[in-house]
Amino acid sequence: MLLVLVAICTALIVAAGRGSRFGGVLPKQYALLGARPVLSHTLATFQGVPGIDRIRVVIAPGDEAHYRAAAAGFDLALPVLGGPSRQLSVLSGLEALAPEAPDLVAIHDAARPFIRAADIVACLEAATVQGVDGAVLGVPLADTLKRVAANGAISETVPREKLWRAQTPQVFRFAPLLRAHREAAALGATEATALTDDAAVAERAGLRVVMVTSSGDNTKITTAEDLQRASTMETRTAFGFDVHGFAPGAAVMLAGVEIPHVQTLAGHSDADVALHALTDAILGTIGAGDIGLHFPPSDPRWRGASSERFLVHALALLAARGGRVIHLDLTLVCEAPRIGPHREAMIASIARIAGIPRDRVSVKATTTEGLGFTGRREGIAAQAVATVEVPRIWE
Ligand code: MG
Repeated sequence: MLLVLVAICTALIVAAGRGSRFGGVLPKQYALLGARPVLSHTLATFQGVPGIDRIRVVIAPGDEAHYRAAAAGFDLALPVLGGPSRQLSVLSGLEALAPEAPDLVAIHDAARPFIRAADIVACLEAATVQGVDGAVLGVPLADTLKRVAANGAISETVPREKLWRAQTPQVFRFAPLLRAHREAAALGATEATALTDDAAVAERAGLRVVMVTSSGDNTKITTAEDLQRASTMETRTAFGFDVHGFAPGAAVMLAGVEIPHVQTLAGHSDADVALHALTDAILGTIGAGDIGLHFPPSDPRWRGASSERFLVHALALLAARGGRVIHLDLTLVCEAPRIGPHREAMIASIARIAGIPRDRVSVKATTTEGLGFTGRREGIAAQAVATVEVPRIWE
């Protein structure tokens, strides 16, 4: 098989739909998936594919502002205004490409943001095989197919072998596809309505189109429920650790609770070793560095500061990513003071700061049997484990 991948290929991303089944304030391609519009995820994948030379988006008239927001930061050719149907929108896009006439055009639905780069490449390769005019990504049918009458009665089971679901991208040699679309535009409404994808337009014109097997999730976001499902949460766990040494004083701050003691903890802030470990654990769940990165010890603003603000900051970063705390587990390592009498107050304090029920907070204490710096009563160590849930996609 001869593969020719020196062809110039333009990706035409179709984002002109109004999405009547989606029902949101925004058309689905501009709705947020994580922190970015659906279209931005799609563009990010296409921009990273080596065989794609240019990207143009077909948008609906009136969506210019939504488009600019979703397209910010991408290197795109000017958008093309679509028509009243998907077929006419694609034709508008193809006509806009006609002056530069790329060898290939890769047509893709903006509402398929999970497309994998490898699948785009596979379609490009399949479409450039000699004797082939186009290649379509798809999957073989897994469900049993029934033909059903208007009254709900099954009239027939349709054999599913050789049946596939066609998705996008659909990659074609540009010139024959443009001709096929121009011909289709001249058809009567009934005949044109039956051409529900670009492959159908190409097949009608006698072009040879092949199917390429999709390697993964290439879900089309059609309903708000699809978007919800696509945005499902994942659980993450991270660890935090901190140590502060004792200094002359009369009380220590642990988890926001002042505990009388024969010494205090030394530190730039209030030296609340427990809240520092918890803060690092929360930061760890979102890969946001450590407490020193956000609150440098060299910064005089944090001298004597309540460590509650450090934990509140980490929690705000988590919330900004759409995440929330599921559980916080703290272990204090020291010979003294005794933690037991203050455990409930510490749990209540952490629960209040984190805005979670007390049964989602655990405070434990241990000693090191007189060994090491904690055993010599030189300071207190704290270990924390944070379990959170965050959207699977937040960028
Ligand atoms: Mg510290």
